[in-house]
Amino acid sequence: MSYTFTADQIQIRDLIRRVAKEKVARRADEIDRTAEYPQDMFDLLKQLGLFTLPFPQEYGGANSMVSACLAIEEFGRVCYNTAYLLLVQWVPFGAILAGGTDDQKGRFLQGLATGELRGAIASSESQSGSDVAGIKTRAKQVAGGYRLSGSKIWCTNSHIADFVLVAAKTAEDDSARSINLFIVERGAKGFEVGRKEDKMGARGVPSCPLFLDDVFVPESNILGASGKGFKVVMEAFNKSRPLIGARGVGLAQGAIDHASEYIQNRAAFGRKISDFQGMRWMLADMAMQTEAARNLVYKAAAMVDAGASGAELAPIAAMAKCFATDTAMKVATDAVQMFGASGISNEYPINRYFRDAKVLQIIEGTNQIQRNIIANHLLGRPAR
Ligand SMILES: Cc1cc2nc3c(=O)[nH]c(=O)nc-3n(C[C@H](O)[C@H](O)[C@H](O)COP(=O)(O)OP(=O)(O)OC[C@H]3O[C@@H](n4cnc5c(N)ncnc54)[C@H](O)[C@@H]3O)c2cc1C
Repeated sequence: MSYTFTADQIQIRDLIRRVAKEKVARRADEIDRTAEYPQDMFDLLKQLGLFTLPFPQEYGGANSMVSACLAIEEFGRVCYNTAYLLLVQWVPFGAILAGGTDDQKGRFLQGLATGELRGAIASSESQSGSDVAGIKTRAKQVAGGYRLSGSKIWCTNSHIADFVLVAAKTAEDDSARSINLFIVERGAKGFEVGRKEDKMGARGVPSCPLFLDDVFVPESNILGASGKGFKVVMEAFNKSRPLIGARGVGLAQGAIDHASEYIQNRAAFGRKISDFQGMRWMLADMAMQTEAARNLVYKAAAMVDAGASGAELAPIAAMAKCFATDTAMKVATDAVQMFGASGISNEYPINRYFRDAKVLQIIEGTNQIQRNIIANHLLGRPAR
């Protein structure tokens, strides 16, 4: 499959490129330095009406994964955290859209679309991140609903979220089949959000531990009427994987932007360092790798838009996430090298790209897990 951008998609890209340059870029370093949640950037995204971009038109979206990737790439080029704000709004929206009941869609989607509501998703626990099936949080059935007990870590956006989609097992058999997602609303008795992690990257959107002590969740807050919400939501996440790749592409492009400017202004041995072949070829390699990643990401996004799913989509989406984020790490590392000592100085923005790139290789399924998905597909083994 190939892809081309429609006139609408080019318009969205150009609008966001301009906003990113004029309004977002100047805030990026400060957000990273202070590690404070950028409410002003959230308000900007809200004003632009971007909280439903990948979703159907009935919710005000463009119903396009390609458009969503373009938006993420352009914001990610200047500010990882602002691009992240979009994604953390889209994740609960996509989950409820994919796995929620009509009642849940009515209660939560409109608020997420306007930015009046914010959500988060909590799967990871101290003993199990990649191994989702190893979670220990339990949901015990009681009259009118369930009672949840356990704890979570790394729950991004939870400090500000109006609700969290919490993964818990409803049975005692410890199998992945018993996992459900429960909508735990802020203020629920026994539910507590802990202190935010002091992170190396992705610093503007806090991640926190959660504590659930016998928290009552009514029947109406189990995602998916049939109790199959978790599986449906996981398939929805497969479809949104190109977005993480787009963050990698945007980050790599931003690192190239900074490096190109720097090497043209820095001199050594009486010449601009951009005249040295060693620098020129490094820059060309960075651009080549980024363009290859871009093509893979938009191919995967176009497949989603064309209706691909399951085994057809999974390996390509995994390749897009893995290749683009590995590329981001490689390109950001080379960019730091081109800056010399300035590359590791906090006076310059480039080390922010390096730190954020590392996060991308770990989140949303580590790049080892993506390689497992690809290898399982090649070897004809079931996805794990
Ligand atoms: C900034 C940030 C935000 C996050 N936000 C959220 C969030 O909002 N909600 C949430 O639920 N979680 C979140 N996470 C957690 C994230 O999903 C996990 O960190 C990730 O899934 C990896 O789990 P882990 O850290 O426990 O590593 P582990 O699973 O312990 O893995 C450790 C290492 O072993 C490798 N490994 C594990 N299994 C295999 C295998 N089968 N084959 C090969 N290698 C393997 C991994 O790739 C990794 O290199 C966030 C993490 C970060 C850093």
